[in-house]
Amino acid sequence: MLRVVALRVGALLLVMALPAALGGWFGGELGAALGALAALLAVLVRDSVQLARLLRWLRWPSRERLPALHGVWAEVLYRSARQLRLWEGRLQREEDKLARFIEALQASPNGVMMIDASGQIDWCNATAASHFGLDPQRDLRQHAVHLIRNPEFFAYMAARRFVEPLLMRRAGPAGTLLLNIQVMPYGDGQKLLLSRDVTQVERTEAMRRDFVANVSHEIKTPLTVIAGFIESMRTLQLSDAERERMLVLMQEQSDRMRRLVEDLLTLAHLEGDPHQPAEETVRMAPMVERLAEEARALSHGRHTIEVVADAGDLRGASAELTSAFSNLVSNAVRYTPDGGRVRIAWRVSSADDGHGWAEFSVSDSGIGIAPEHIPRLTERFYRVDRGRSRESGGTGLGLAIVKHALLRHQAELRVVSHPGQGSTFSARFPAARLVTAD
Ligand code: ADP
Repeated sequence: MLRVVALRVGALLLVMALPAALGGWFGGELGAALGALAALLAVLVRDSVQLARLLRWLRWPSRERLPALHGVWAEVLYRSARQLRLWEGRLQREEDKLARFIEALQASPNGVMMIDASGQIDWCNATAASHFGLDPQRDLRQHAVHLIRNPEFFAYMAARRFVEPLLMRRAGPAGTLLLNIQVMPYGDGQKLLLSRDVTQVERTEAMRRDFVANVSHEIKTPLTVIAGFIESMRTLQLSDAERERMLVLMQEQSDRMRRLVEDLLTLAHLEGDPHQPAEETVRMAPMVERLAEEARALSHGRHTIEVVADAGDLRGASAELTSAFSNLVSNAVRYTPDGGRVRIAWRVSSADDGHGWAEFSVSDSGIGIAPEHIPRLTERFYRVDRGRSRESGGTGLGLAIVKHALLRHQAELRVVSHPGQGSTFSARFPAARLVTAD
């Protein structure tokens, strides 16, 4: 620093020396003083102009062009500009980091909300906004509990016991959401709120519970009957005829359990195997004939069985398709009173837009189904009439098996039914699955 001061003072003295000497030559001591003063003034004016330019640039360094400065002012300008560039670079890097961080938070499947010490929303990502029905721009700086109008949320935030998460239901545009909310206090009274949509998790969990309860119930009923008969046979004096009757009933119950276990295994295979089935050409004419034979065997001559098969062969997994079609056929026979008609058809249709399909359908003149039941028929264990299903040997899993087997073949199940008149169940396959003769 001393060096700079010495150099600057030295330079100033040098600049003053020449006018002072010239002044002294012409006007003696007074001339020398005036010469030195004039030089000092000139230096001062020049410095002030440069200083003013520097100050003007410093006010808006990024907007103004670099001023033309000389000497020490050029040095000051150069150093300030370099420092400024360094700061700008650092700031840019920090801004980039922040932008990437916010991008990552936006990409999170969880809702993230930052709440300040006074309870106002500082920032939230799009997921949190959709969870709570907020506008991520307009609702910033608003009190979280005022916007998320929910008594449970209000009580949770007021209690300030954030060890346990809060499970909160909220009516959204697409139905009721179940949200898992966790709050983490940080900093000076601020809070980080994380929200997770667990609607689907809960639905799956409820389905799993229902399924286990249903399976247990389905197995328990025949087991109780069998256990009762065993008890009677051990403790009572029975005639041969009575014994025989009980054995027949026990066999019926064990058959029922066997069918249930078989259907459960088929369903587990269809649902659990994510791979497309190994495909082959399924010869449809013999398949339809075999299904008609099955129907006749099941009907024991109580129904008229009709067959129409005028489409080609199908590409698919033979075992899965057989299982699906045979469930439809056996349902038609089981839910059609004696004297009724069952018609099995395999046909190709063409749509107006040129995209055709191949359709396997089973129509019956049976009891039919009321419209409110139709959307739920493919749910596991859903039955319109539980007693009738059981009496006819149903497991309640047939149409669930049909649905999954068809899904794996990009086929669609359609049901048209009128109570008291009959039903048509059709499996519609994309035309691309048809194996043409050539
Ligand atoms: P189930 O073993 O009880 O027949 P499914 O899953 O095959 O189970 O069928 C579900 C329910 O759909 C049946 O219980 C029955 O109420 C109804 N259903 C299925 N097919 C027919 C049909 N062809 N006619 C009338 N009702 C039917």
